[in-house]
Amino acid sequence: MIYAQYIRHSASLGRPRLHSTFPAVVGCEQPSVRLALLLVLCLFSLCSLAQQVGKPLPKWKEGGLDIHHINTGQGSATLLVFPDGTTLLVDAGAINSRDWRTNKPRNIPTKPSNERQAGEWIARYVQKALAHQTSPAIDYALISHFHDDHMGTPLNVMKQSSAGYTLAGITEVGELIPIRKIIDRGWPDYSYPTPMTADSMVSNYRRFLQWQQQHKGMDIERFRAGSNDQLVLLKSKKYPFEVRNIAVNGEMWTGSGNQTASLFPPLSSLKSADFPNENMCSAVFQIRYGKFDYFSGGDLQGVIRFGAPAWHDVETPIAQVVGPVEVQLVDHHGYPDSQNGALLTRLQPRVMVVPSWASSHPGKDVLERMFSEEFYKGPRDVFMTNLLPEAKTAIADLLPRLQSEGGHVVIRVEKGGKKYQIMVLDDTTESFRVKAVYGPYQSK
Ligand SMILES: [Zn+2]
Repeated sequence: MIYAQYIRHSASLGRPRLHSTFPAVVGCEQPSVRLALLLVLCLFSLCSLAQQVGKPLPKWKEGGLDIHHINTGQGSATLLVFPDGTTLLVDAGAINSRDWRTNKPRNIPTKPSNERQAGEWIARYVQKALAHQTSPAIDYALISHFHDDHMGTPLNVMKQSSAGYTLAGITEVGELIPIRKIIDRGWPDYSYPTPMTADSMVSNYRRFLQWQQQHKGMDIERFRAGSNDQLVLLKSKKYPFEVRNIAVNGEMWTGSGNQTASLFPPLSSLKSADFPNENMCSAVFQIRYGKFDYFSGGDLQGVIRFGAPAWHDVETPIAQVVGPVEVQLVDHHGYPDSQNGALLTRLQPRVMVVPSWASSHPGKDVLERMFSEEFYKGPRDVFMTNLLPEAKTAIADLLPRLQSEGGHVVIRVEKGGKKYQIMVLDDTTESFRVKAVYGPYQSK
């Protein structure tokens, strides 16, 4: 097994991009010396990377940026450890309790097992990933939008807090690990684009917020489009690091100062059938660390249904203010309405991570677009957190082009942001065992 992974890794290292990792060698005068040095460096790199395979993920180090795409099979959950140690959890999906999504062939069973709910698995992962802290805590939790695969649904869940709300997704994470501040698109009135009072998931979440605020001192804020001072380094400002809030609720950063523009027409001018949907309202952000860029677009859509107004494509305008990135969390799990050509042309991601949980993730045409050089030239690596047999059948001829078909996908950016690696971790246990390592990649 390890040998097979080593071979796969070797193949990854053979890609042209790797050569840019060794600029010193290119400067040598003698071709033979240059070749020998290159071989030595490649071997050294191969050996050091191969040493990591089969072992637990090394701990986060000060100055590094870790982005863990946690795979429970139940929706999105991303833990970020900023260079100074500040922590951000984006989403905590838990779909398993909704009847029509239970034990259906189109869905993925809970990982590592059904012994616990997804929220508890996420909390346990976070505690382990933050083992360098004496008492692990989440500084910021961000809920990108109010869907069960991003926040967890209480429907049919028996597990209750002593305070009377149901424990599922983010409310379960908050029961097990302290969350200092939570940020979402609805606080404080939860009324955009229409009041959410009838939504049992949002109502349960609001009971959780109220209790946490009163008894644990948790701060709650609404995600502010255009801001670069809402998600900040809390322990040290010495790193060239920034989180820019790109868009939320149809309000988008213009690229200038903290100014925003509206993507949606006034609601009063719309038929209710054309109202912005929940996915279009996602909280979207970009991270910059030196030359390294990461984009997280929630469930944005860019391929709209026939007859829908053109402004329902929100990927196209949002991509224009983002620009090229090293790593993209693929929009809407790679569902057929995501990853349009304009977005790919603008973002040109070197690495794409698909947070999949159903047989429709990724759509075949979506994957074809992601691999197409029609939109941008050069290599790109695609990592799935899951891939159901039904999805494999549907995308069969593209299957060999995927770097990874499953596991937690960890982006480890080195101090300063110049280089990064991808580690795929075993998701069948809580071992944090590294299954494969990719890179190093050079940030542009
Ligand atoms: Zn989703």
